[in-house]
Amino acid sequence: MKNQTLYTLAELDKQHILHPSTSPAFNRNNGPTIVFERGEGLHIFDMDNNKYIDGVSMLWNVNVGHGNKELAQVSFDQMQKLAYSSMFYGYSNEPAVKLAEKITSMTPGDLDSVFYTSGGSESNDTAFKLARFYWERKGLANKKKIISLKRGYHGVTVAAQRATGIEVYRAFSGSGDPDIINAEPHLTSCELGDINHPSYQNSIRGTIEREGANHVAAVIIEPIQGAGGVHVPPEDYLQAVRKLCDEQNILLIADEVICGFGRTGRSFGVNHWDIVPDLMSVAKGITSGYAQLGAVVMRTPIMDAICEVPDMLAHGFTYSGHPTACAVGLKNLEIIERENLIDQADQMGKLLLKGFDYLSDKYHFFQNGRGRGLLTGFDLIKDPEQNITFTPEEAAAMSIVEECKKRGLLIRGFDFEPGMNIVAIAPPLISQQEDIETIISIVDESLSTYSKRLG
Ligand code: PLP
Repeated sequence: MKNQTLYTLAELDKQHILHPSTSPAFNRNNGPTIVFERGEGLHIFDMDNNKYIDGVSMLWNVNVGHGNKELAQVSFDQMQKLAYSSMFYGYSNEPAVKLAEKITSMTPGDLDSVFYTSGGSESNDTAFKLARFYWERKGLANKKKIISLKRGYHGVTVAAQRATGIEVYRAFSGSGDPDIINAEPHLTSCELGDINHPSYQNSIRGTIEREGANHVAAVIIEPIQGAGGVHVPPEDYLQAVRKLCDEQNILLIADEVICGFGRTGRSFGVNHWDIVPDLMSVAKGITSGYAQLGAVVMRTPIMDAICEVPDMLAHGFTYSGHPTACAVGLKNLEIIERENLIDQADQMGKLLLKGFDYLSDKYHFFQNGRGRGLLTGFDLIKDPEQNITFTPEEAAAMSIVEECKKRGLLIRGFDFEPGMNIVAIAPPLISQQEDIETIISIVDESLSTYSKRLG
C-alpha cells in the first residue's frame, strides 16, 4: 500500500513540480530522490520507513530537531486564536511584539529593532533597501552599491542572487544588478591596508577604493560562509572589516541566516569575533524551520533615521510579523535557551572536529576539517602535497554523500568550482555525544569504501 502511494506521489511529483536547486531533467526522468514522511528528533523517515540521521538539519535550519511537540502545540494554539493578521497600517500582534523583544535581547550591542520577513533572501533584500534608504535619509543618496564576498550565499531573489558569490546562482537567468559587486573573501591584510598584496584590487578595501566610498552603501558578510562550503574566516578578519566600514562610512550587514540562534555554538556568528554589525539578517534557525520567518535587525541610529520619516515605509511583505510564525519563533527560542542548546552545539562541535582529526590521520585525502559549533565541513583533495584535486569523474564529495546516504546519514557535498570537493555536516543542535560518534563512524565507513574504489 505504502509503496503504491509512494509510486503515485513520485509520478505526480515528476509531472507537477519544478524543484529548487535540483536538476529539472533528472527530476522529470527519475522523480524525487526521497519522499519524506515524518521526522523525530535527529531523524527523518521516508515513505518506505527508511530512517536517516539529518546530518545537515535539512537546510541548516532544523535546529531543535524534528517532531517537536511543543512547537506543534504552540502553532495549533495560535492558529485557533489568531492564525494570521497583517502588520501593514500600523497593525500589530502579540507574538510579533514578544518575539521582537526576545530577538533584540539576544543580539549584541544596540541591534534593537526588527523588520519581519518570510525568509533569508527577503531579509537580505530588505537589508540592502534599508541601508540605501538610511543613506538617502542622511543626504547621501549616491551610496547605493553593495559589496559581498565570493563564495558567499545570500539567497535567490534578484538582489540576494547578485550578492551571492557562487557563479551558478549569480548567473542564473541573467538578471543582474550592477550595484552589487563581489569581492575576494577573507583577505585580512588587504582589509587592514596592505596595498601591495597581489589580490588587493579585489579585496573589499580595493573594491571600495575603485567604486568610491561615496557610492558604497554596505558590505554584506556571512560570519561563517555556509553554502559556499563552510569557510571560517581567519582570526581578526571580521574586526578588520568592521574597522574598514567605520573608517569609510559604510554599513556592515551580517548575514546570520545560517549562523544565527546557536548554530555555531554562540547566539550569533559575530559573537565569535565580538563585533556588532549595523544590520543583521536572520531566518532559518529562528523557528527551526517549523514556520517560514525571517527578520532584519538594525542598530538604533538606523532605526532612528528611518523613524524620522512621516511618509509610509514603502516596503513590506504579506507575511511580515505572521502571528503563527512568530509564536513558533518565540517558543523555539525559549526551547533553545531552556535546553542549553547553544552550549551543547559548542560542545558537540568540538567533538565533531576531534572526529575530523581522527579521519584526517586515517585518510590522506581528508583535509581541512573546520567549523564552529555544529556548522562544520572538510575538503577532499586527491594529493594534498602536490595540490592535485579529484577529477569531476571521481566525484569525491558527491560519492561520500551517496555512501553516507546508503548508511542512513544525509549530508551535503559542494563541487560548484573545478576541483572543489567539500562536504558539510551540520546536525540539529540537540545532537548528543553518541549521535556525533555515529555520524563520524558512518563518514569513516564511507571514506573507506571510496578509498578502496580509488584503489
Ligand atoms: N543567507 C544565507 C547565509 C543562507 O544560507 C540562505 C539560504 O540557505 C539565505 C540567505 C537565503 O535564505 P532563504 O532560502 O530562506 O531565502
